[in-house]
Amino acid sequence: MRITAPTVDSLDTILPEEPLLMMGAGPVPIPAKVAAANGIVINHLGETMSRIIEQVKAMSRYVFQTDSSHILGVAGPGSAAMEMAVANLVVPGDNVLSVCNGFFSGRLAEMSARCGADVARLEIEEGKAADPDAVAAAIHEYRPKVLTIVQGETSNTVYNHALPAICQAAKSIGCLVIVDAVCTLSTMPLHMDEWGVDAVITGGQKGLSCIPGVSLVAFSEQAWNKITTREDTLRHWCLDAKLADKFWYQSSYHYTAPVSGIMAIHEALRLICEETLEARFDRHLKCSMALQAGIQGLGLSLSVEKADRLNSVVGIWVPEGMEQKAILAHISRDYKVEISGSFGLNIVRIGQMGEQCRVHNIFRTIHALGSTIQRLGGTADLPRGVAMLEKTLQEYQPQFG
Ligand SMILES: *Cc1c(COP(=O)(O)O)cnc(C)c1O
Repeated sequence: MRITAPTVDSLDTILPEEPLLMMGAGPVPIPAKVAAANGIVINHLGETMSRIIEQVKAMSRYVFQTDSSHILGVAGPGSAAMEMAVANLVVPGDNVLSVCNGFFSGRLAEMSARCGADVARLEIEEGKAADPDAVAAAIHEYRPKVLTIVQGETSNTVYNHALPAICQAAKSIGCLVIVDAVCTLSTMPLHMDEWGVDAVITGGQKGLSCIPGVSLVAFSEQAWNKITTREDTLRHWCLDAKLADKFWYQSSYHYTAPVSGIMAIHEALRLICEETLEARFDRHLKCSMALQAGIQGLGLSLSVEKADRLNSVVGIWVPEGMEQKAILAHISRDYKVEISGSFGLNIVRIGQMGEQCRVHNIFRTIHALGSTIQRLGGTADLPRGVAMLEKTLQEYQPQFG
């Protein structure tokens, strides 16, 4: 028996005629220049690639705010970068303290346990940021070798704003700090060296406004020292930082690099350098504040109190009597705007990462959300929502530039 070729539909018959505006929790829209770069394939080794890699590292040092000479790319999702940080820094038997605010910080705890760590989870109350005093107390109680934490918890839209103080508490006992900045890097300040972070993780498809599937990790000198002096052999081969160093610092072969993804990351980072971090942070803050004001203007409620609220992804309580799934389906079908549900919580989430933070995108999203709520039988004050959005945009004072 032979297997015959199946008859399938071509992508242009599957994809909608009008592309959906991706306003969920990632992936986010990518700039045209990033898309064009992602169409390029060159030799994965050789002089041209070396020059591109040098620039990716130089631009990453700026975006991560670090002098580190241990910045590595990963052919894989943000989770692969998380696993690379954890697997290389956690030696079996190490005490690890995982600050757990939700789904992704919980994933760091699970990865640490799989690496043979003795993991203590510090569970933070739902909807709240980690309290630095509570984390410091846990650090002194458990004496961890490694602490894991997220800067922004995408799953429930909580922001760990006390990160600098938490890093300081960990450093005071020589504990390495792994920070997941997948949804936050380049959308708000993160000073890797100044704060004393030992590993910063990012993915492509969120804060960086690049494609999914290619990620970056930056290690500090102290972290690298642990990596190069540990005596056991890593069970991961693809994620072994010492092997990855061959490609990223020695122009030689580890595995065939995701060439077109590296082109896309290069372009995404270049656009960040061109915009500058200060202007980018202001753009993100301005758009997110305006979006939040617009949502409240509609008469909807945000799911996290202002003090602990993440600006990169905004959580909104599903109005009473309404179904989360119905909202997502309606807004996508009738308004071509894609937003996200959540893992467990009765919220919908709207992203404010990279290209999502454009004035035309937030106006369209507020209109689409308000109209959807109305169509589904709820109440939403659209004129007020749009007015609040506009007012917030007009009154915004730059804070970074
Ligand atoms: C999305 C996300 C991840 C996981 O990224 P994937 O690319 O889906 O593996 C990890 N951490 C945070 C904070 C995220 O937002």
